[in-house]
Amino acid sequence: MARDSIFHPDFQPRPYWWEAYAPTAGELAEVPREARVAIVGGGYSGLSAALELAKHGVEAVVLERGALGVGASTRNGGSVSGGVNIGKSFSGRAAEVAPERAQHLLADASDAFSLIERLIEEEGIECFWMKHGRFVGAWTPKHYAYQEKRLASLNDDAQSGAYMVPRGRQREEIASDYYYGGMVVERSASLHPALYYKGLLDACRQRDIAICAEASVEKITANGTGRRVETSRGTVTAGDVVIATNGYTGGVTPALRRRVVPIASHIIATEELPEDLAASLIPKWRSISDTKRVLCYYRMSPDGRRMVFGGRARFTPANPELCARVLHGYMTERFPQLQGARVTHSWTGNTAFTLDALPHMGEEGGLHYCLGCNGSGVAMMTYLGTQTARKIARVANAPCAFDGPEFPDHPLYTGNPWFLPLVGGYYRMRDRLDRLLA
Ligand SMILES: Cc1cc2nc3c(=O)[nH]c(=O)nc-3n(C[C@H](O)[C@H](O)[C@H](O)COP(=O)(O)OP(=O)(O)OC[C@H]3O[C@@H](n4cnc5c(N)ncnc54)[C@H](O)[C@@H]3O)c2cc1C
Repeated sequence: MARDSIFHPDFQPRPYWWEAYAPTAGELAEVPREARVAIVGGGYSGLSAALELAKHGVEAVVLERGALGVGASTRNGGSVSGGVNIGKSFSGRAAEVAPERAQHLLADASDAFSLIERLIEEEGIECFWMKHGRFVGAWTPKHYAYQEKRLASLNDDAQSGAYMVPRGRQREEIASDYYYGGMVVERSASLHPALYYKGLLDACRQRDIAICAEASVEKITANGTGRRVETSRGTVTAGDVVIATNGYTGGVTPALRRRVVPIASHIIATEELPEDLAASLIPKWRSISDTKRVLCYYRMSPDGRRMVFGGRARFTPANPELCARVLHGYMTERFPQLQGARVTHSWTGNTAFTLDALPHMGEEGGLHYCLGCNGSGVAMMTYLGTQTARKIARVANAPCAFDGPEFPDHPLYTGNPWFLPLVGGYYRMRDRLDRLLA
């Protein structure tokens, strides 16, 4: 294959999803001088917090640095899970989680799935919500055995509807022999991430919530019992402030920045594939991911015609054309039949990893936060935004499992993830070794 033949002549270095909704600032809403709650960040978590607050009669303003949806919320793969990884951290040393806490975490992660499903239905959001489940391919026989060990807890605590698929039956799930079998999780879904975002935005607008694009929050200071929030377009005085900046958390909240590691993830979309080929790749329309340390995640586009293939081509933001080459390579390792499929879109975005691999909500220095999707936040960040709102509106029936004071930091980490390329290289080597020794 010629060096550049993976690129379609119409190649664009931007999300495929933006063909349906591209982030825009629209007509700029004025930054109000006062608000009961100011929310920093206008992604899923910021918008869902504002929406839930409005449902309880609490007025909020959303302050977004860029265009509406410019963060990860219109860039992700659109796989929706009702689980959470416990005991598996990006640093490789996750905190031990007591069994009762693990149960509580899984139960709330399962609630996150119910919440997003209900929200989409109640708000009439047309975002290709499809409950076709997920297949997680095992990279080694050991990984398969580990998945098998987790089945009972996933099914008991998160009602995941999970079961194992041995290697001999793998082709019922995926037209590839790349894995050693894997796990199906029936209680998973997929959606069009940018249309889901647009649906949340419309729902907020219908309730007259002030959503201020291009209002970068530059300073937050105490002001009596509330906070003074200075933005690039004016200052708001607010009773409560919610930090919903996830993988884009910056110097305005240094204590929180030290607790999340922004890790880039990258995705490509292929051109429309011949119908038979497209229909054969993932016959049950599942979302797919794998158990590798440097994992890949992929699915067919909502119309079933393109492969949308993501992974950590690099751990940091990188040139979309370079990432496209790497991801195309990963894709054809799994599906050699896609050698000739050209890439039409390639893009990148930031996720936020935490040192204990768990998402968190809580309060730090008088600021509420919901942060740390650990790569899986379509349902979870919607949930944490909603839970934070319920806490502020004092309507939560019980504390959320992800709410608490334990949000670990590391004395040597100040928010600059200079070490990520080294970690990426090390993880790739470990993946190769695991397979060699399998
Ligand atoms: C490539 C990729 C693929 C992914 N795939 C999946 C997937 O398949 N399934 C899944 O569940 N999750 C996935 N995720 C994760 C998911 O997208 C995120 O968890 C989710 O979108 C986070 O939403 P959020 O609202 O917390 O953050 P974001 O949507 O990132 O929004 C944060 C916002 O804060 C704004 N901001 C930052 N600083 C300031 C400031 N000072 N002032 C004002 N605004 C500020 C940013 O501009 C940004 O818009 C993926 C992420 C990426 C990047």
